[in-house]
Amino acid sequence: MAETRKTKVLIIGSGPAGYTAGVYASRAMLDPILVQGIEPGGQLTTTTEVENWPGATEIQGPDLMINMEAHAKAMGTEIIGDIITDLDLSTRPFVAKGDSGTEYIADAVILATGARAKWLGLETEDAFKGFGVSACATCDGFFYRGQEIVVIGGGNTAVEEALFLTNFASKVTLIHRRDELRAEKILQDRLEKNPKIETLWFHELVEVVGEDSPRGVTGIKVRDVRSGAESELSAKGVFIAIGHAPASELVKDQLELHHGGYVKVKPGSTETSVPGVFAAGDLTDHKYRQAVTSAGMGCMAALDAERFLAETGVAEDRDTTLPLGHGAPESEGAA
Ligand code: FAD
Ligand code: NAP
Repeated sequence: MAETRKTKVLIIGSGPAGYTAGVYASRAMLDPILVQGIEPGGQLTTTTEVENWPGATEIQGPDLMINMEAHAKAMGTEIIGDIITDLDLSTRPFVAKGDSGTEYIADAVILATGARAKWLGLETEDAFKGFGVSACATCDGFFYRGQEIVVIGGGNTAVEEALFLTNFASKVTLIHRRDELRAEKILQDRLEKNPKIETLWFHELVEVVGEDSPRGVTGIKVRDVRSGAESELSAKGVFIAIGHAPASELVKDQLELHHGGYVKVKPGSTETSVPGVFAAGDLTDHKYRQAVTSAGMGCMAALDAERFLAETGVAEDRDTTLPLGHGAPESEGAA
């Protein structure tokens, strides 16, 4: 039978923004429920070393997210493995439906659904997805040991993916539509120094070439954007790393969005166009899109939700008899 769960704060998403919101909402005694979605831990679970999370010179992305989940849980966040398929923001309390059949009724909602990889939209890209075409080097790189691989894009993700793929591939070709990368200089330096990587400037992918049985990629067709001339390259793996788009489908007709689908928040706040609904992280941010900025916004969203609930009288029934971090082991009690 379908279950109904009531909560003061429903957090949707389990990336840095969601888990940080969980930590802060728990410490405000709001007993939040956090729904993880299809990618528990978010985008950082698809990468390897993270070198810009303050306090850790280097930490593996998946480990960082396991730590964040444990932290939110220890502070008292109830973490649920479900996907929100429908969200009604027209009346308060808000109603969300989970893929599991559970209905969540919430006085405030924190949206932290982040972003998803973009695709080029080519028919042949779609046809070979999962059979040589991928958007996640950490997930699929291992399948291309000793093979030639191409990576499309010029941002941090593309360069990191290219570097990571040299652990497996005999050769990696980074293909970019301009002759200048967006990636940070430190990554560009590593790219230039890596003998396994070649860069093909001013080119775009026009077709993925492959076979049907067994299904797999054998090469690609690229076009020189200056001359229009087309040429072929052999490759077994094609990694698309052209950026991410905000996951705002749940709210696209209910909240004000920026061009590109990012949820609009009031400057300096996480308030959206609907009172009681707050948004944090990559879902709102076309500019910085970093783990630390997402976590910072998750903190802001929980504080904004607490203030909203106090003003509307909903937070009055907080159980303040519980010690801070009531889900935590003794030694991890709140500061
Ligand atoms: P995300 O991490 O995108 O998480 C979104 C969450 O929402 C997921 O858990 C998903 O399951 C959930 N969700 C989505 N839809 C639903 C739904 N309908 N119901 C329930 N849940 C839902 N940043 C850095 O600072 N340093 C790095 O080194 C770094 N490396 C990166 C490497 C790669 C390959 C990529 C792709 C990104 C990297 N970034 C890095 C960027 C960083 O990962 C993001 O800025 C950050 O993860 C955004 O956090 P977020 O919480 O907003 O969302
Ligand atoms: P991004 O910075 O938006 O870069 C996307 C790249 O793909 C750009 O070089 C762009 O080309 C290219 N591109 C876009 N559409 C294309 C198309 N249709 N055809 C061909 N090329 C196309 O995306 P990202 O690299 O995924 O990074 C997203 C965010 O995550 C950034 O804020 C980044 O800093 C962050 N991130 C951080 C780290 C880190 O800190 N180590 C690692 C990964 C990601 P143009 O340059 O010509 O526009």
